[in-house]
Amino acid sequence: MASTNGFSDGRSSREGWMQVALQAAREAGEKGEVPVGAVVVLDGEVIAVGGNRPVAGHDPSAHAEMVALRAAAGKLGNYRLSDCELYVTLEPCAMCAGAMLHARLKKVIFGAYDPKTGVAGSVLNLFDYAVLNHHTEVEGGVLQDECGALLKGFFADRRKREREESAMADVLRTPEDRFAHLPGYAFKPHYIGDLKGYRGIRIHYLDEGKGAKVFLCLHGQPSWSYLYRKMIPTLVAAGHRVVAPDLIGFGKSDKPVDDALYTFDYHRTMLLNFIERLDLTNIVLVVQDWGGLLGLTLPMAMPERFAGLLIMNTAFAGGDLPLGQGFLDWRAFSNKNPDMAVGKLFARSCPHLSPAEAAAYDAPFPGAAYKAGVRRFPNLVPDHPDAGGAAISRRARDWFRTEWNGKTFMAVGMKDPVLGPPVMAYVRTHIRNCPPPFEVAEGGHFLQEWGEEVVREALKVL
Ligand SMILES: [Zn+2]
Repeated sequence: MASTNGFSDGRSSREGWMQVALQAAREAGEKGEVPVGAVVVLDGEVIAVGGNRPVAGHDPSAHAEMVALRAAAGKLGNYRLSDCELYVTLEPCAMCAGAMLHARLKKVIFGAYDPKTGVAGSVLNLFDYAVLNHHTEVEGGVLQDECGALLKGFFADRRKREREESAMADVLRTPEDRFAHLPGYAFKPHYIGDLKGYRGIRIHYLDEGKGAKVFLCLHGQPSWSYLYRKMIPTLVAAGHRVVAPDLIGFGKSDKPVDDALYTFDYHRTMLLNFIERLDLTNIVLVVQDWGGLLGLTLPMAMPERFAGLLIMNTAFAGGDLPLGQGFLDWRAFSNKNPDMAVGKLFARSCPHLSPAEAAAYDAPFPGAAYKAGVRRFPNLVPDHPDAGGAAISRRARDWFRTEWNGKTFMAVGMKDPVLGPPVMAYVRTHIRNCPPPFEVAEGGHFLQEWGEEVVREALKVL
């Protein structure tokens, strides 16, 4: 970090310091934050630089000024910064102005005016209230064109990206008549077409029953909410609400055709945004297969929303354990069959299904073009520690072992060759207070197809 602003050409030092703040703003913008930067200066030296980081820090207070003030106070060992000046590229908000007044800064110099939330003259002027402020001078408009252009460019780029996102032409929608008269699936459809980050993609979910507790049922590969049809009525009859989304590329949700679009993060962020959009609380997370690979990483991101866990044949996808021959065989089979016969697969692994029930698993996929999400999943299972989703899955595993406070019910389909008893025994050691599993001797990988008895047992615990 340069200790002076480096301007020897006669330009005012104010502008030089604002350039330092602008550089911090640019760096914040490159990380996807609103580009605002701040610098604290004392006796012609930089004490601290701060860039906006509320997104990365999950911290509404992490405005550039707050970041810089905290660092400066820490460095000087004093929360009073009476002889310091703070340069910031955007007019401060009420929170930051409050902190600046508490710090008793000598002077605040800002760049662009903020007509929406600025409190150094735009919306109001907190620095003008003699009752609040005896110390801090304020001056606006230094390099305001440059500071403002950075923000305008950032928001224009973001709007452009959102337009591209929604204009994504190559999204297929399964014709509605494919879903007519499916056995056991007389549930009312619900749709969201403008989920944050996924505008233009219609996401389908079931929302049955009423109750304080919400059973959030996440399906995996290559199934859809149909998989939960046997569990939903029992849960609803017990006085609970059940929400079961179809992942993008599955069930009645839209299906982008580009295989590469589907990533661990693409699905995970959809689920996080979906939970926020429906504002689900008191959630019992119900997971199996990819529903668990993705779903188990959700509670640590929003722990206040989760109360329980019903976990069936799944795993933490940490990328640091061998995947096992069963899975490798499955992945090879999937990659050799880009138009995989999904219904046949269900008929094989759940022999008690009627032909019409097995065929219902084919309903979402009129052709191979609809199966990009299906094809992609086996290749998204992290197979090395740096694979997408692996680090976050390891964090989730640690979190469940040490922080999880909810009730857990584990059920294991004992005939699952991939995510069966040995895998689940390992998973159990990483879930705090997980009782011994309920073992379904005849149960296979898709344990929800043995779901009535699983729910009956689970409700004794959850
Ligand atoms: Zn602020």
